[in-house]
Amino acid sequence: MYDYEALRRDVCKLCKSGVECGTIGRSVSGAHIVYFHLGPASGAQMIVQGGIHAREWVTSVLVTKQVETLAREKLPLGIYFLPMTNPDGATLVQHGAGAFPEYAASLKTVNGGEDFSMWKANLRAVDLNCNFDAMWGKGESNVTEPAPSSFIGYLPASEPETRALVNFTRAVRPAITVSYHALGREVYYEFGQTGERLARDRRIAGIAADALGYRLVHGDLGSAGGYKDWCVRELGIPALTIEIISERFSHPLDESALEGEEKNLWLPKLIAEMLKTKNS
Ligand SMILES: [Zn+2]
Repeated sequence: MYDYEALRRDVCKLCKSGVECGTIGRSVSGAHIVYFHLGPASGAQMIVQGGIHAREWVTSVLVTKQVETLAREKLPLGIYFLPMTNPDGATLVQHGAGAFPEYAASLKTVNGGEDFSMWKANLRAVDLNCNFDAMWGKGESNVTEPAPSSFIGYLPASEPETRALVNFTRAVRPAITVSYHALGREVYYEFGQTGERLARDRRIAGIAADALGYRLVHGDLGSAGGYKDWCVRELGIPALTIEIISERFSHPLDESALEGEEKNLWLPKLIAEMLKTKNS
């Protein structure tokens, strides 16, 4: 099982091997939201993030493996990797509410029991991927009170994890972002953009979907308040949501579901090369 402690061990290992590591901020419980950086420090940058939904922690395994895979590759632009943007959620799914004694009683009430394996939210029962300031609260499946998933939070960016991601993204000003989720083997890219921006984003998403053998999904399918949504709407950049893992699997997932997902290890490099070619 790949938990926050396993990520910390990978930080030590990769840091010792010369990979730049750091933190973009802290979670509700004070856990670090870790980043790795590969490639040029200046010029265009990309952000790849995983693990924003607690039960999808296998995406954290994938993003860390991307860092290991690409660490010695020559990259045409800088890439920030954020493997686990909801570290408390991952801990809750993997180790239960006992890991957070002060929150345990209220978490169990919201969850309706001790089994947190299907939990998606953070420690305050806010679904971080509904908490961004992009048509906030307008999503079809949004709920307005604490829940294992889909609770929009008390205000846009009410959660420390959301604010950390917003502040970091504004500081980096990436050319593109990629968000990893599970499951379905699909690529999403649309959130109300039109004209040339829509054509650009559709082309990039189509190349990514073809490379992975995934389905390209058009439209926003009633999504709102997600990180990808915010990147498209507020920053005007292409932003992909990639749902890994075949629908033959079902939640809760473990590492065995990553078999057959190896093409994703190279996807950030492929996207970086595509952007570089386009701009040069
Ligand atoms: Zn998700």
